[in-house]
Amino acid sequence: MKSFTRRALLRFGALTGMVSGLPWTKASFAEAGPPSAGVQRYVTLGRTGLKISDISFGSSRLRDGDEDLVRHALDRGVNYFDTAESYGRGRSEVVLGNALEGKRDQVYIATKMGTGPATSSHRMMNSLEDCLRRLQMDYVDVFMNHAVNSVATLKNSEWFEFVEAAKRQGKIRFAGMSGHAGRLVQCLDYAIDEGMVDVVLASHNFGQDPAFYEGFTRSWDLVAVLPDLPRVLAKAKSKNIGVIAMKVLRGARLNDMRPFEQGGATFSQAAFRWVLQNSYTDAAIISMTSTRQIDEYLGGSGGLQVTEEDLELLHQYARLTDLSYCRHACNECEGACPNGVAIADVLRTRMYATDYGDLAFAKGEYRRLGALASPCLNCDGQPCRNACPHGLQIDRLCGPAHLMLS
Ligand code: SF4
Ligand code: SF4
Repeated sequence: MKSFTRRALLRFGALTGMVSGLPWTKASFAEAGPPSAGVQRYVTLGRTGLKISDISFGSSRLRDGDEDLVRHALDRGVNYFDTAESYGRGRSEVVLGNALEGKRDQVYIATKMGTGPATSSHRMMNSLEDCLRRLQMDYVDVFMNHAVNSVATLKNSEWFEFVEAAKRQGKIRFAGMSGHAGRLVQCLDYAIDEGMVDVVLASHNFGQDPAFYEGFTRSWDLVAVLPDLPRVLAKAKSKNIGVIAMKVLRGARLNDMRPFEQGGATFSQAAFRWVLQNSYTDAAIISMTSTRQIDEYLGGSGGLQVTEEDLELLHQYARLTDLSYCRHACNECEGACPNGVAIADVLRTRMYATDYGDLAFAKGEYRRLGALASPCLNCDGQPCRNACPHGLQIDRLCGPAHLMLS
């Protein structure tokens, strides 16, 4: 029998941030404000009370030697940095730690660890300590259960035991979960109802809200994926849980949009404004891979109103990418492959190569999948041919994806 309850855990979580003498009582960067043009707005991340940049740094694609990229973002006011043990097989955490040496009191750090229904609290603690070693830090502000797509994972009571111990030992301040797959809504509902999380990080973009498609005249079928996601994120917000959106660009085909951008505003900035104007979203993170990109993205900071021009860009993007974009957190084709290919995951990793332009990251993520697409090479494609209600030709995408990523 565990010697704690979820209610006690929550209470404890709220208290830990108030314990004096712990390192996170120093003044945050948010209080000083940005040194120059860059971040225009800091938001309170729910019950954590952290004041974070509304557009923050995703580190999934940080590589050795990218320290200056992190410092560039920091110089422009970004103060929340999100990473994970799996990014670059731990190298993302190392680079982040190098770049932020001596600046720990100016930033907030979130990292993540994948768990399963049977992962022990002992293993979780070991993983956390490995993260801290790579980051060269004593604690992280937010520690997340990474890429959760099964309620069974959330029901693992070892997670509660681990979180309680890690908070008591001052190694984490707040706990959360991230998700971007087909059972995201069920997982979020469970985690919120059970009081498991202080912060949620969820895939969310303009293509996942039915409201985006209202009045959108078209000759083909455009529908929202996970139409229930706004409801569950609003529930999180109503319980004072911090809500951060990721994958806000719906695939990041930025170059496709350059011809349509006018007057200085860009598609990415429109996408940020769309996600940040939602009352249930506190902030957004995005992978930042060049200084130019950082400056462009931060041009969307502070924007709480989506203009007519923004909407036109978003609609144009939806039109252009509709038949090639495998929707985040969709998975409506689940079970279509008799050979067990995890179609949505395969196409998500393909996107990292074809849309994000990061083949190395795509290959790394592909390797981590259990069910690779090698069977597609010897399949006539009949079973999955009409399995995608959004019109993607799965049989023509998965085999080449395997050849490209394996
Ligand atoms: S292939 Fe189609 S049905 Fe399958 S996850 Fe992608 S968008 Fe959804
Ligand atoms: S092409 Fe064949 S093996 Fe590949 S996903 Fe479709 S049904 Fe499965």
